[in-house]
Amino acid sequence: MQPEAALARPDVPDARETALFLDVDGTLLAFAETPDAVVVGAALRTLLGDLHRACGGALALVSGRSIAALDGLFGPLELPAAGSHGLEIRTDGRIHELGIPLPDVAIDRMQALAATHAGSLFEHKRFGGALHYRRAAEHRPALTTAMHGLAREVGSGFELIEGNHVLELSAASGNKGSAIRFLSTRAPWRDRQPVFIGDDTTDEPGFEAVNAMGGLSIRVGQRPSTAARWQLDSIDAVQAWLRTLAGAN
Ligand SMILES: [Mg+2]
Repeated sequence: MQPEAALARPDVPDARETALFLDVDGTLLAFAETPDAVVVGAALRTLLGDLHRACGGALALVSGRSIAALDGLFGPLELPAAGSHGLEIRTDGRIHELGIPLPDVAIDRMQALAATHAGSLFEHKRFGGALHYRRAAEHRPALTTAMHGLAREVGSGFELIEGNHVLELSAASGNKGSAIRFLSTRAPWRDRQPVFIGDDTTDEPGFEAVNAMGGLSIRVGQRPSTAARWQLDSIDAVQAWLRTLAGAN
């Protein structure tokens, strides 16, 4: 694969006119060996609270994690959030559910795959399931083949998402782009310029959504991307840019 040219660093907009959508893992937080091992520091919690205020409440986490998992990470902060790849969305403390649960047969098969491929890990989500193989990259080809087979079996209501060391079977009724569009029709996000920062394949629909609304689509690092138009080079660069947006430096 050809290395892509770097994209420009985005100018920092006025927070009072910004609707801010943030991916979490690989964007705000470094990956750990397992999703549960990720740690949120006090400085990041403070920054997110500051951003939420600076943007007049128009901030949302947009993650593949469930909202319950996001609350576990960021608590006691309880931010607006689109979890499970846009299949559950919390605004005003109310959760909108937009997906269907994974059939039991698929859960059983994924648990069996994790049990027979040492180092891989099954994560049951509300509207899907994920096989993580960060500690067992040698199993990627076998797990990928098996998961494509399972995706064909469960049919068109679900789709297979190949992320960063994760294979996820997820209800096909939403994604990060549909979540951003959903929030952008509602207060306090509507009538503001959307900004979305993400780092992975599953963020592409989010980039496309904000591009269509004249917003800022920002990828983290130089991974190949079809849709992002701006770039911040690292998680540290994202946090510095967000501190400026929050008026903190
Ligand atoms: Mg990410």
